[in-house]
Amino acid sequence: MSNSNKIPVTDTSPNTIDLYQKREKIYQRNATGFFQTLRVITIWVTLGAYFLGPWLTWNGRQAILFDLPERKFYILGMTFWPQDFILLSWLLIIAAFALFFFTVLAGRLWCGYTCPQTVWTTFFMWIEHVTEGDRHQRIRLDAQPWSLKKVIKKSTKHFFWILLSLFTAFTFVGYFVPVVELLLDTAYFNLDAWPIFWLIFFTVATYMNAGWLREQVCIYMCPYARFQGVMFDPDTLVVTYDTKRGDPRGKRKKKTDHQEQGLGDCIDCKLCVQVCPTGIDIRNGLQYECIGCAACIDACDSVMDQMGYDRGLVRYSTENAIDGKPSRLLRPRLVGYAIVLCVMVIGFIAILFSRVPLEVDIIRDRNQLYRTNVEGHIENVYTLKIINKTQQPHSYKVSISGPEGLILDTPESISTLAGELVVVPTTAHIHPSALNAPNTNIYFYIEAIDDPSLHVKEESRFLGPMPKR
Ligand code: SF4
Ligand code: SF4
Repeated sequence: MSNSNKIPVTDTSPNTIDLYQKREKIYQRNATGFFQTLRVITIWVTLGAYFLGPWLTWNGRQAILFDLPERKFYILGMTFWPQDFILLSWLLIIAAFALFFFTVLAGRLWCGYTCPQTVWTTFFMWIEHVTEGDRHQRIRLDAQPWSLKKVIKKSTKHFFWILLSLFTAFTFVGYFVPVVELLLDTAYFNLDAWPIFWLIFFTVATYMNAGWLREQVCIYMCPYARFQGVMFDPDTLVVTYDTKRGDPRGKRKKKTDHQEQGLGDCIDCKLCVQVCPTGIDIRNGLQYECIGCAACIDACDSVMDQMGYDRGLVRYSTENAIDGKPSRLLRPRLVGYAIVLCVMVIGFIAILFSRVPLEVDIIRDRNQLYRTNVEGHIENVYTLKIINKTQQPHSYKVSISGPEGLILDTPESISTLAGELVVVPTTAHIHPSALNAPNTNIYFYIEAIDDPSLHVKEESRFLGPMPKR
């Protein structure tokens, strides 16, 4: 065993795969057991959240809508604008650290249980299982010459695959176009070019990725599989075959004492290989193709039960535990990721809840430094841009602070609709004798009349002539 603190990830497939080698079709056998039940639950929760998402409403509007033409993103009661992009960046950093944390802790949990590629592929495989039968029936069907029965089975499978792909694409577009509008436009063949393009694009992408490419996406296209080896350490929980317990492998009769025959617990039934969605043999050690779905654990546990052996020949374990060494849960790297993750999450929540859904820009007229008005006052011109980022209309009052005697000429209240940007020209003026400097800091206060918690303070400058002393 290596002394390095990383598990070396090597391609230990029985045959070296040529880059241009023809793909061998994988006929996955159905597995049942604790982890597969857990996967079914997470898959249904994930699919349910995805398909229901665009249909949820909040205060009479679509609860989750990314309105790209309007550049507004509605999530429940909040409206986000491009100015809130920092929150999205923050969220992506949190997601990256969560992925690092869980990968160091328990390997490819994301891949095995919640990755969309896994979720949709599993659903597509289930359709295949229902329409074409179990593994042996599918192998037989593919080997048979074309017949009416084969055409019907294959067509039924592809029909449901395309239907699910269409439904997936429609839901995806429904996050960007109001979904009821999209449904009506689809029903009356009144769709614009862009929704049609994206519907076709995502239908084809789903059908190809989940129906045809399947494990190829994980093995060849996903970068995560390639860098997992850098993140694992000897204490990372991964799906492992216990070589010490299982080898030497060999067939035996159920009632014979296999230890007397010099055999380990592995009966070499290859069930763990048949249930593997990526077609690998976990007994060859950790491989980058392993998506951590734990189907081999369930399959092997069922074999162990039948043989009357202890479960767990294939199990979640760590390299140290398999080697008989103590495993550590708290490692510096894991603790480091946990701390960063907590700090990032707390920071994100703090920013999200302290965020005032009111954006104000004060733009000073740059064409003229100052002017003298009819009263003989020094006057500066400003443009106020007020964005009401809430989902309710509001009226705002504007006030100013600066040198004593500074007067703001502005409407008593400025009304905005929900999500509206209003532009208000305004002037501030002061008697020349009250001006102490040619360049003075001033502050605008904008406050919603019906909700004083909606207020912002913006700094600007007031320019005038050099005061006479
Ligand atoms: S399922 Fe278990 S017993 Fe059967 S080959 Fe795999 S590891 Fe061995
Ligand atoms: S080796 Fe086991 S855990 Fe890994 S992908 Fe195959 S069945 Fe899933």
